[in-house]
Amino acid sequence: MRLRLPGWLRAAGNTLLNTVFPPLCLACGEPTPETGQLCPTCFATVEFITPPQCQVCGAPFADEAGATLLCGACLLRRPLYARSRSCARYGDTVRGLVLAFKHGDRTELAPALAAMMMRAGAPLIAEADVIVPVPLHRWRLFRRRFNQAALLARAIARSGHKPLATQALARIRATSSQGRQRRRARFANVRGSFAVRRPQQVAGRAVLLIDDVLTTGATVAACTRVLRAAGAIRVDVLTFAQVVRPLVAPVRASAEPVKVDAH
Ligand SMILES: [Zn+2]
Ligand SMILES: [Zn+2]
Repeated sequence: MRLRLPGWLRAAGNTLLNTVFPPLCLACGEPTPETGQLCPTCFATVEFITPPQCQVCGAPFADEAGATLLCGACLLRRPLYARSRSCARYGDTVRGLVLAFKHGDRTELAPALAAMMMRAGAPLIAEADVIVPVPLHRWRLFRRRFNQAALLARAIARSGHKPLATQALARIRATSSQGRQRRRARFANVRGSFAVRRPQQVAGRAVLLIDDVLTTGATVAACTRVLRAAGAIRVDVLTFAQVVRPLVAPVRASAEPVKVDAH
């Protein structure tokens, strides 16, 4: 059961809690002024993704060159999803946080990571009808005991006041670990791995898909394919971290106008 405490009582409780358990940096464990923060040293090592960036995949651009721009990769082959946003590049500090969260049972990191994701993906959350986490296969869920994407999705849905559909999508085929595979192999590996279990939760709706890390985009592409086939009108993607190749020069899109979201 969750107690709903008045604000002043919660604030008093937090002050007391901070005295007994001083807040610590999420990454290195050094004391910080407030809970759910990174210390200045760790903060400085995180490469937050900010505009200018590709309007579709969110990849950061090296320089300011206007707002209606796509990166070369998206111009060459437009992803199935509409927009993808991420808080930070998958660098050393971020990798440490993600691995601690995912494999180190540090589930208490979920609210702090979700809060950062909410800043990076505010327009996507505002325009979403339903929040759907990328599911784990039940064997992996059994081993790990929790789905890290579902924890993030739950926190985002709660704070963003959006419906959450954790059972809408299922991973029907266990895929081998994607860590060492090349891009093309990853797309082949996950194709057919997902199915929509509750089409009524996504049909006619704008879906915001949540995961911890975006690497090649193969997983979210496979999810997006089945969500769109089940009638989702749009699929946006929000992840905590994104593997970004070296900063790219923006390419001016001429073929079709691109919707610009306000950051
Ligand atoms: Zn730190
Ligand atoms: Zn792009």
